[in-house]
Amino acid sequence: MKRKSRYELLMRRRIANTFDQWKEKDQISGREVYNFLYKIRGIARGLGMKRVEFLAAERIAEITDDEQAIWAHGDWKRFLKPFVEIAENETETEPEQLPGRKEEIIRNETIGRKEGRFGQDSEIILLIDHDVEFVTGLKNKLEEEGYHVIISLTVANGFKNFYTMSPSFVLMNIELAEGNERLEEFGAAVRANLTPLALISSTVHERSRAQAYEFGATDFIDKEVLEPEWFIPYLRNRLALSQKILIDELTGACNRKFMERALSDLLANYERYNEGFAIAIIDLDHFKTVNDTHGHIVGDEVLRRLVQLIDEHKRKTDMLCRFGGEEFVLCLPKTTEEGAVILLDRIREQFSKEQFTSSVGDFNVTFSGGVVSVNEHNHTRERLLDEADKALYQSKADGRNRLTVYSGDLESTAVKKLQVLVVDDDRLVRTILSRSFAEWQPDDEVDVEVHAFKDGQELLDSNWYRPNERYIILLDGIMPRMNGIEVLERIRADYDDKNIIISMLSARAGEANIVHALEKGADDYMLKPFNVQEVLARVGRLSRRLLL
Ligand code: GH3
Ligand code: MG
Ligand code: MG
Repeated sequence: MKRKSRYELLMRRRIANTFDQWKEKDQISGREVYNFLYKIRGIARGLGMKRVEFLAAERIAEITDDEQAIWAHGDWKRFLKPFVEIAENETETEPEQLPGRKEEIIRNETIGRKEGRFGQDSEIILLIDHDVEFVTGLKNKLEEEGYHVIISLTVANGFKNFYTMSPSFVLMNIELAEGNERLEEFGAAVRANLTPLALISSTVHERSRAQAYEFGATDFIDKEVLEPEWFIPYLRNRLALSQKILIDELTGACNRKFMERALSDLLANYERYNEGFAIAIIDLDHFKTVNDTHGHIVGDEVLRRLVQLIDEHKRKTDMLCRFGGEEFVLCLPKTTEEGAVILLDRIREQFSKEQFTSSVGDFNVTFSGGVVSVNEHNHTRERLLDEADKALYQSKADGRNRLTVYSGDLESTAVKKLQVLVVDDDRLVRTILSRSFAEWQPDDEVDVEVHAFKDGQELLDSNWYRPNERYIILLDGIMPRMNGIEVLERIRADYDDKNIIISMLSARAGEANIVHALEKGADDYMLKPFNVQEVLARVGRLSRRLLL
């Protein structure tokens, strides 16, 4: 409680200061309003103040950072009314904590989901350490602060999670016994993505400290003294710093934050001068295989070459952004869909002919793309990206190495199916979860189907698996006939794990089992007794990885 009010005060002061300065002037520029909102949103996000963050984001969506725009006193006061109220101490920045707080988190998650893949979401933190007690303890603390935490017990798993989840921050134990080579490879990947990397160790001395920094750590932390009291403010600092970076280090393209601004500018020009533009999302084909076969260093080279090639073909005013992993967004001002396709097809042709080389042999890589141009129905960032993404999805479905232009027909085919399997011998748990998931709609494009099984044997005996579907399995740890861990092992051994996420349901008393489960390949765990809303929220976040 105390901590919350301190944040509240901080936020209030920050806003009030700005307004005091503005009141001295007759007018302020559009840029100032824009910067103010960005700053507040960043701070609010860092402090986990969801409502303020949301208010700021809402306002940002309504304006552009037009240097020329002039805001008179009354104008900005009206536009920023909720913030004026906060500054004048008339409203609470956040609804009261407990018991309302949990609901607040869930409510905001729903907002996040509704915005789909392109909306703002809580920051993802990746913790890599084999010390389960430590990582689960820290995870709980961080999740109380609104962060979404992924745990990996091994570097190999951490690597996988790093690429699929794109965390904003990585904490890793440098003592993980998987050989230095693997560690170094991972460190290089994290650095290349400019993700802050904190290394922890239980044995801190001059030499290990030097080693950690040579390895590229942003920070080196003595594990024995790591306490949430200071770790959380520290984390906020680090995240705030990386908010300022606009270039993707690995490829030299712009990053996602830059793209958000670039798109806002294009949209503003469209609205004001009816100036058209097109965007394309590009995703490399079967890139996982490239990494698996030739190693990710070679994979990185492929990414750089693609960026280089696009740079050679595009106009100066076109903007290329690395959207995440091996996906790029190309923004093309004053360009029609036809123009975009001509340009991209030329690039696609040439790229597919590029010969890459590794110790394994020569190979080629292709990409698929989705193209869309702005019109009166889609002129928001989310809509545009969503339409381009649907077109991309169609290109993949049609066999890859091609481009698709968005059209309304794609809407119906883009629905993705998500299977939720509840495996628990407790009938009440089965009933409650089945019912809740049956009504659950994480977003418009996902079809959820629920099945319940009374134990693991029943699941394994059933004909449950289809390679093209995606599964979330909620697996009870302790069941008759075959216990949860055994079921988990069987699933991990026999099926492709990229479309199956497994979360263990564990009784509080069985916490030792969690260690075991995570080691055997569980992605997450939930403690019983649980709150249904919480389970839905967690599964919603986990499913994001499957639905990408
Ligand atoms: P698809 O044709 O369906 O796109 O197949 P895919 O294998 O490319 O699947 P997806 O797009 O889901 O895979 C993304 C993969 O890209 C996961 C990871 O192995 C790889 N990847 C993501 N970011 C990086 C990166 O920065 N460097 C390297 N080398 N690989 C990356
Ligand atoms: Mg991809
Ligand atoms: Mg791909």
